[in-house]
Amino acid sequence: MSQGVFVGRIIPFLLLGLWSGCASDPRGPRAEFSRASAGAAHYSVAVNPELSILRAKVCFDGEAPEALVPIVSDAKRFLLEAYGPEGERLPSEGKISLNGVSAGGCVRYVIDLMRASRGSRFALRQNRALLIAQTLWLWRPDPAPVDEPATIRFKLPSDYRVATAWPGQRGRFILDGSAFREQATVVIGAFRLETISLSDEESSNEKTSPSDPSAATTHSSPTSVAQLAILDGHVEAGREGVKRWISEAARAVSGIYGEFPVSRLLVAIVPIGEGFRPVAFGLVRRGGGASVMLLVHGNAKTEELVGDWTAIHEFVHLATPHLRRQDAWISEGIATYYQEVLRARADLQSPLQAWRNLDRGFTRGRRVATGRTLRQEARDMHRTGAYRRVYWEGTFFALELDVRLRTHRASSSLDRVIQENRKTFQSRPVVWKGTELLSSFEQIAGPRGFERLYEQQARGRDFPDPDPLFRRLGLVRNRDGELEFDDDAELAHVRDAIMSGLQ
Ligand SMILES: [Zn+2]
Repeated sequence: MSQGVFVGRIIPFLLLGLWSGCASDPRGPRAEFSRASAGAAHYSVAVNPELSILRAKVCFDGEAPEALVPIVSDAKRFLLEAYGPEGERLPSEGKISLNGVSAGGCVRYVIDLMRASRGSRFALRQNRALLIAQTLWLWRPDPAPVDEPATIRFKLPSDYRVATAWPGQRGRFILDGSAFREQATVVIGAFRLETISLSDEESSNEKTSPSDPSAATTHSSPTSVAQLAILDGHVEAGREGVKRWISEAARAVSGIYGEFPVSRLLVAIVPIGEGFRPVAFGLVRRGGGASVMLLVHGNAKTEELVGDWTAIHEFVHLATPHLRRQDAWISEGIATYYQEVLRARADLQSPLQAWRNLDRGFTRGRRVATGRTLRQEARDMHRTGAYRRVYWEGTFFALELDVRLRTHRASSSLDRVIQENRKTFQSRPVVWKGTELLSSFEQIAGPRGFERLYEQQARGRDFPDPDPLFRRLGLVRNRDGELEFDDDAELAHVRDAIMSGLQ
């Protein structure tokens, strides 16, 4: 899963209250103010214990920009008021006009956090903690300063902390351009925080005080680490079980790259009521850093969590660029393909079971076909709910890519091209077109006819029949219609190599 689709329907909203807090100057020594263009913005954000009101103070290096504007226009509804340097009210109809704010000046604004979080699919409350996308409360400078990262500090009640995916030191976090474009997960309040290593080393407990918010994102180690923000609520697996689950999912995904795709990650674990599956929902966000939110059913046992596909699926998203909406079938397909492949490689299921799961997914995807093209289906899936076709037809595409990459004279694999594409997309953290990703893969592995394959699939209205490809791979159907291995097939060795991982 990729965007916050189901959250609003699943989550209880529990908390009420009101408080008035105060933010102090966020910055250390002030930079020079002589530049003509607007300088970097420095935010200081305070919340009340009830997490119902957020007060932000924003100071600028040099000239103030023309205005502060919400990252998503819908968020303008949550602004209560805005003040200039002398405490004067600022015009704030849809944007906060900063005309007349002098160089080096600071402004303040107040957000109705309760209203912003209530009923929003981008926020949830669990006892004394609030998980909320910054797009609901962070207002960005307009125009944005060029190449100047912003900073943010949090001033919180004494037993509260913050967890974000933003890099930071000593309580000050850095906001790059993507933090003002894409959603980021921010957890504020009272919750448990753990640090685990995403490499093969031992994991360690967080030993810092909850009142020191800098603890949430200060890392000195170059190895991959995840902050686990675990919200209140019962999970049968317990804290150690949850840590083991995340560590094992991360290790499985590291098999594609040789290491985990990102060096720092926030994982927000939200226990919810009981359910039939161990994990109810997963969501990856990339604004200013990588975060994954996982909604966990309270009756989930450790082994069930470890065997579940959701965390692996979300982590695989971090190995490829964020694709534009009409191409989401490619990124969802790659993540869904690997959720089965990586569980086989990690011995969490047999290779035959993985092939059967892929086959069942294709069948489910075919059943919900609506006669629209895959591109249209992907663009509108949040409205139409045709997720299964988008995800599983994309998965078939990922299998086709992998087979083509492995069967050319200069043999490669989907693992290899994803791994080698990493540098390109990490240096260009923007939303990509699907064709850009495929041409990058071909630059790495040589021409494979991906553009034609892409056009065929994107414009196709019917789910492709997987059986011809299955037969080449030595996957034939028994009397019950279930896949079985045929080791005499032309590409049986490719079938086995897919589920065996990097050699
Ligand atoms: Zn996904």
